[in-house]
Amino acid sequence: MGKGGQQKGFLMAKITLPDLPYAIDALAPHISKETLEFHHGKHHKTYVETLNKLIAGTEFEGKPLEEIVKTSSGKIFNNAAQAWNHDFYWHSLAPKAGGEPDGVLGEAIEKKWGPFDTFKTEFGKVAADTFGSGWVWLVQTPDGGLDPKSTSNAQTPLTTADKPLLTCDVWEHAYCIDYRNKRPDYIGAFWNIVNWKFAAENMAKGAAEESTKVRKAG
Ligand code: MN
Repeated sequence: MGKGGQQKGFLMAKITLPDLPYAIDALAPHISKETLEFHHGKHHKTYVETLNKLIAGTEFEGKPLEEIVKTSSGKIFNNAAQAWNHDFYWHSLAPKAGGEPDGVLGEAIEKKWGPFDTFKTEFGKVAADTFGSGWVWLVQTPDGGLDPKSTSNAQTPLTTADKPLLTCDVWEHAYCIDYRNKRPDYIGAFWNIVNWKFAAENMAKGAAEESTKVRKAG
C-alpha cells in the first residue's frame, strides 16, 4: 500500500466483493458454474458496487458492512443487506456437503422436528411459501430454539433478535438457469450442498458468550 492510504480520510476502506469460498464449478451439478458466474460475478458484485456509490461521502462510508445493514434504511439498506446475505449464502453451501448435522445442532433439530426429513419438509414449505423474491433461513431464536424463517427482498435476520445459522436464496436469479421456475427442485438440490459445519459454527458463536454471561450472573 502507498503512503497515502495510511493518511486518515484519504482513502476510505471500500466494501469489497468477497471471493466464493470454493471454486466456481465446485457446486455442480446442483448449482452450475454458469449460475455462480451470474449470481456471484454479476448480482452480488452489483450490490457491492451500488452500495459503495451510495455510501460515498455519507456517515456509512468506511463502516463495516454488518454495521451498515443494522443502521441504514432504503436503498443503502437494500444493497448492504443483499451484499451481506449473499456472502452468508455462499458460506451456507459447500461442495461434497449435505447429509444430516450431528452434535448440538443435530440434537436441536431432532428436539424440534423429530426425524430429519420432517425438518426438511417444513423448511421446504417455508421456501415454497416465500412469495416473490426472498430468503429462507434457519435461525436460532432468543429462547435457544430453532426456526425456519422467510424474509422478503433484502430483509435479513441480522436486524432482529434471531441468530442466522444458514440461508437459502430463493430469488429467481438463484435457480432460473439450472431449474427454470422450479423452486422446489432447487430446494431439493440445496440439501446436497448445505453446509452444516457453517451452521454449527454460527450456533456455537453466541453460545460461548451466553454461557459466560450465565456464569457471571451466577
Ligand atoms: Mn441472490
